[in-house]
Amino acid sequence: MIACDCEVCSSPDPKDKRFRSSIMVRSDTTTLVVDSTPDFRCQMLREKVRRLDGIIFTHPHKDHIAGLDDVRAFNYFSKKPMPVFANEMTQAAIIREFPYAFTENKYPGLPEIQLHTINRDPFTVGNIPVVPIQVWHLKMPVLGFRFGNFTYITDANRIDEPEKEKIRGSEIIVVNALRNEKHESHYSLKEAISLVKELSIPRAFFTHISHQLGRHEAVNATLTKGMSLAYDGLVLEL
Ligand SMILES: [Zn+2]
Ligand SMILES: [Zn+2]
Repeated sequence: MIACDCEVCSSPDPKDKRFRSSIMVRSDTTTLVVDSTPDFRCQMLREKVRRLDGIIFTHPHKDHIAGLDDVRAFNYFSKKPMPVFANEMTQAAIIREFPYAFTENKYPGLPEIQLHTINRDPFTVGNIPVVPIQVWHLKMPVLGFRFGNFTYITDANRIDEPEKEKIRGSEIIVVNALRNEKHESHYSLKEAISLVKELSIPRAFFTHISHQLGRHEAVNATLTKGMSLAYDGLVLEL
């Protein structure tokens, strides 16, 4: 965190250095990203991503959409607009935040975005099937996504029973766990752990972690088998 000198923010452990939350999902032919964070550019450069077939959005909060302008580099090389999959609420925020990308007469070099509306129905990006799962971020409906046996849920503190059913049977879940203390719109670590146990998911990684949670190594050591803190650059083979 900017201007903080707590033990996490001053930790030399690379696993305590976190960009904002996002994942990349890759098949043999398709690469997609969930959310374009303010760190999107650095994340794409770090992972040397040459081609991106789409961005799917969880919700319109700034820490999940702010990096969208940087798709212009992908536009430049692919000579195609970037397919963006978002619900209506998130699309409205994208148009409001990046109005210059949606005007009639655009000057060259602006980001080219092609909006696709999603809701709770399954869809595909390239050859990757995606199942949206609606979760609650206090009062805001947020989309989690299931890709085969892998489920990604960020920015949630509550999930309705029918949506939980869509998660059951996953082999791996990545779910948000902000800190130890309760928070009004994010799961605490304890709440995230009980969700994983309730849904009997064998492997879980916790993400969207605040510096208030403590140092990676120390917190990770307290977790039981099958559960770990996620970290930047973590790769999972499915
Ligand atoms: Zn700190
Ligand atoms: Zn967030």
